[in-house]
Amino acid sequence: MKVNNAEIVISAVSKQQYPGDQLPEIALAGRSNVGKSSFINKLINRKNLARTSSKPGKTQTLNFYKINEAFYFVDVPGYGYAKVSKKERDKWGAMMEEYFQTRDTLKAVLLITDVRHEPTKDDIQMYDYLKHFELPVIVVATKLDKVPKNKKDQYIKRTRNTLEMAPEDYVLPFSSETAEGKDEAWRLLRKFI
Ligand code: GDP
Repeated sequence: MKVNNAEIVISAVSKQQYPGDQLPEIALAGRSNVGKSSFINKLINRKNLARTSSKPGKTQTLNFYKINEAFYFVDVPGYGYAKVSKKERDKWGAMMEEYFQTRDTLKAVLLITDVRHEPTKDDIQMYDYLKHFELPVIVVATKLDKVPKNKKDQYIKRTRNTLEMAPEDYVLPFSSETAEGKDEAWRLLRKFI
């Protein structure tokens, strides 16, 4: 897709703040620092619209990025950051639930994982949660540039196996560094937007 326009519309903490224009939404979930912002920036050809950082655990808002006046990428706060207090974690949980369980315009979720690492307990829980609510899931195994070429298939297979993924769900090998998987990402997203 050729992106002509991309803007952040709102960083929301509750339902009342979600955009009201009924455009389809694609959410991105994943551990903090896994590469969600980089994924968005790469897909829309912008260096830094989505805030990337090397400090995990920063974003605690749902960030709505409107793309081509046609749909939203919704960057949800990352999980699994150890230094977050229980109170913060509870707040995170409530915010996620409110969004995932009530948002009618949510069409699909991209679960971003780091291809180098076996999916964590949190990743598995997230995948199961999304399946439970019957949300279409695409797993994006990112940072592909960091694994040797001859190991890629093996790592992708491990991602699929550890998450015990349903056969109909897709794992997309991706790199924000090299743009590998970018065209395929748009192809997969097209049917939801
Ligand atoms: P977020 O917290 O999930 O939004 O993660 P970011 O997009 O901010 O990325 C966290 C760090 O990982 C940053 O230093 C990025 O430059 C780096 N990163 C993200 N994606 C990739 C990738 O595909 N390849 C490499 N080599 N680094 C990446």
